[in-house]
Amino acid sequence: MDFAIEDSDDQRAFRAVVRDWLEKNIPDGMEHTIDTGDLTLEQYQLRRELGRRLGAQGWLYPTMPKKYGGGDLPIEHVVILHDEIGRAGFSIPPYYDAGGRMSAPTILVWGSEEHKDRFLPPICKGEVRTWQLLTEPGAGSDLAGVKTTAKRDGDDYVVNGQKVFVGSSHGADYSWTIVVTDPDAKRHENVSWLMIPMDLPGISVVPLDLLTAGGEGGSGSGVKNTVFFDDVRVPAEYLVGGENNGWKVATTHLEVEHGGAGRFGDRAIIAEFIEFCRERHDGHAIVDSESAREKLVDLYIESQITRLFAMRNYWLAHTGQPRSYEGSQYSLRRKLSGLDISEKMLDIAGPYALIKDEKWAPLNNAIELFQREGITALHPGATTDIQRVVMARRIGIGRSEVEKAGKMR
Ligand SMILES: Cc1cc2nc3c(=O)[nH]c(=O)nc-3n(C[C@H](O)[C@H](O)[C@H](O)COP(=O)(O)OP(=O)(O)OC[C@H]3O[C@@H](n4cnc5c(N)ncnc54)[C@H](O)[C@@H]3O)c2cc1C
Repeated sequence: MDFAIEDSDDQRAFRAVVRDWLEKNIPDGMEHTIDTGDLTLEQYQLRRELGRRLGAQGWLYPTMPKKYGGGDLPIEHVVILHDEIGRAGFSIPPYYDAGGRMSAPTILVWGSEEHKDRFLPPICKGEVRTWQLLTEPGAGSDLAGVKTTAKRDGDDYVVNGQKVFVGSSHGADYSWTIVVTDPDAKRHENVSWLMIPMDLPGISVVPLDLLTAGGEGGSGSGVKNTVFFDDVRVPAEYLVGGENNGWKVATTHLEVEHGGAGRFGDRAIIAEFIEFCRERHDGHAIVDSESAREKLVDLYIESQITRLFAMRNYWLAHTGQPRSYEGSQYSLRRKLSGLDISEKMLDIAGPYALIKDEKWAPLNNAIELFQREGITALHPGATTDIQRVVMARRIGIGRSEVEKAGKMR
C-alpha cells in the first residue's frame, strides 16, 4: 500500500512559488533558525525583516483576512506554506510574537471594526511585535485572579500593577493585556483587555534570570520579564471587547493559546537531530548503534503524533467543526512529548546534549536549549495539570455542566 501524499497540480505550483520566494527573500546573514540559543539583536532584526517580507505577501498570518493584512489562503496552501517554511528551518512568525498570534484571532472575534482596522494590519504585516501579558505573581493558572487595575479617567484608562513571566528579549511594540476594570464586581465580570503601546510613560520591563534565558524559540519559552505599570495612561479606545466583558474575550484567547486553533510544522530540531545522528565522525555515526536507532524511531513517531494532533485541530478550527477538549489534548501531548523527546536526545547524544559550547555542541547548542525548554515548556499557556482540568470539564467529568470550547469565530 502506498501512503505517500502527492500534491495536485495547483498545490505543486504553489509549492514551487513558495520555495522560490524563500530562496530569494531569506535575508543574507540570517542564521538557520532552530531554537538557536542567544538571539542577538542583529539576528532578531533579520528575523523581523523576514517577517515584514512575509507580511507583504500575506504569508506572515496566512489565514487572516486580506483586508486586515493576512493572506486569506485556502487551507491546503497554508499547509504547503508551513511545510516549506519548516523545510527552510524556521516557523511563522519567524520571531516570538505570541501576543500577535493570540490577539489577532481574538480581535477578529471580539474587536470593533475600528479595532480590527487599527490593530490587525500592523500585526499581520509584521510591522509590530506584540507580547501577551496575562500572568501575575498571584494569578497564573487562576487567571481570573488578576489584580492589575485599569481605572477609567477621562479619555484614558490608568493602569497599575505587575505582570510576570512575560515577553521575550528585544522588547515589543504592544502588549495584549488582561486587567481589572471593576474591582468591586464578581470574578469573571470584572476584567477587560487592553492593547497597550509599550512606549507609554510608566512602563518598566525587568528581565528575569530563568532556566530558559538565552533562547527565543518556537516553544514560546526564552527570555522572560516582569513588567511594571505605574500610572500608565492608555487611550480608552485601546480597550477591546467591551468593558468588564474580558472573561468572554479570554475564552477565545485561551482557546487559541491552549492549542484549539492548531498549529503546523514539526519541531525543526527533530529533522536536524536525526541528520546529526547520521553524520560520520572518525568513521562512526550514532545511527550505527541499534539502541540509538530504536530511540530515534520512537522520537520521530512521538513528534509525528503531536504534529497530527496539531493539524487535526487546525482543520477543526478552520472548517468550523464542533470542538471541545481537542485544544488541551494537543497542548498536553506537545508538552509531554517535548519532555520525552528531550530525554531521548540526552540518551542518544550523551553529554553533548548538555554542553553549550560553540565548538563541540551539536546543532549550534539547540539540543542543550531543548533540554531546558523541555522542562520549562510544561508551564506556559496553562500547565499540564490545567490542560487535564480543561479536558475533564469539556468531557463532563467532575461538573454537572459540560464546559464549551472558547468562541473562535
Ligand atoms: C517559559 C515560560 C513562558 C511563559 N510565557 C508567558 C507569557 O508570555 N505570558 C504570560 O502571561 N505568562 C507566561 N508564562 C506564565 C505561565 O502562563 C504560568 O507560569 C502558568 O500559567 C502557571 O502559573 P504559575 O506559574 O503562577 O503557577 P501556579 O498557577 O501557581 O501553579 C503551581 C502548580 O499548581 C498546579 N495547579 C494550579 N492550579 C491547579 C488546579 N486547579 N488543578 C491542578 N493543579 C493545579 C499547576 O499545574 C502547577 O504545577 C510563562 C511561563 C513560563 C515558565
